[in-house]
Amino acid sequence: MPKGTVGLLAFLFLIMLSNIVPARATVGLFQLSNFSWCGDPHVVSCGQVTVIFLVNSNTSNPGVDANSFVQRVIDAANTWKAVSGILFQYGGATTRSCGVDNGAGVDVIGWSTLAGTPPPLAGTTPFTFSGNELSQVTTCFNNDSSISWSVSPTGPLNSGVYDLQSDALHEFGHWVDLLDLSINNCNLAECSSQVMWFQLASATFKRVL
Ligand SMILES: [Zn+2]
Repeated sequence: MPKGTVGLLAFLFLIMLSNIVPARATVGLFQLSNFSWCGDPHVVSCGQVTVIFLVNSNTSNPGVDANSFVQRVIDAANTWKAVSGILFQYGGATTRSCGVDNGAGVDVIGWSTLAGTPPPLAGTTPFTFSGNELSQVTTCFNNDSSISWSVSPTGPLNSGVYDLQSDALHEFGHWVDLLDLSINNCNLAECSSQVMWFQLASATFKRVL
């Protein structure tokens, strides 16, 4: 990916598209995907959801320190935890792969080589029991060698380098039932600064909701 461009943040569906309710609710600028964690085995009740995510930090991407990667993911999860009502918990390291079906309640975050033109920065995939009840969500960050990542807590971010925590915050937005924002559903001037905007510019922090 050329330096200074924006990266795409993909929301991937392995499930049947017919499972997605076409009429989508809207909350403020956010577009809800109509998925629900109510079917997940972690759920005590639909008002108290604990989602335990596992992290596979194995990446071929140079410059991504494993411990810093895990911490940036946790920081992003905690940002949503503060406002979403979903109690995200880091469940530890895993050797399981992201982007595949690991079974209900096994929510894996890791690295994979994601193809595309340009290659997406990351992809989040929901799985459901039936209908729109989530059983599992997984996020992959892109190992593609053309993408340069920063897992620094503070930066600075060089030109052409993407802030992993900003991307993780976007991906966790899908975990809490939000869709991408784009010019198809939102005003450019109003929405392009939002975390759920479908693109992330390089050398840019978007760590605040
Ligand atoms: Zn997205």
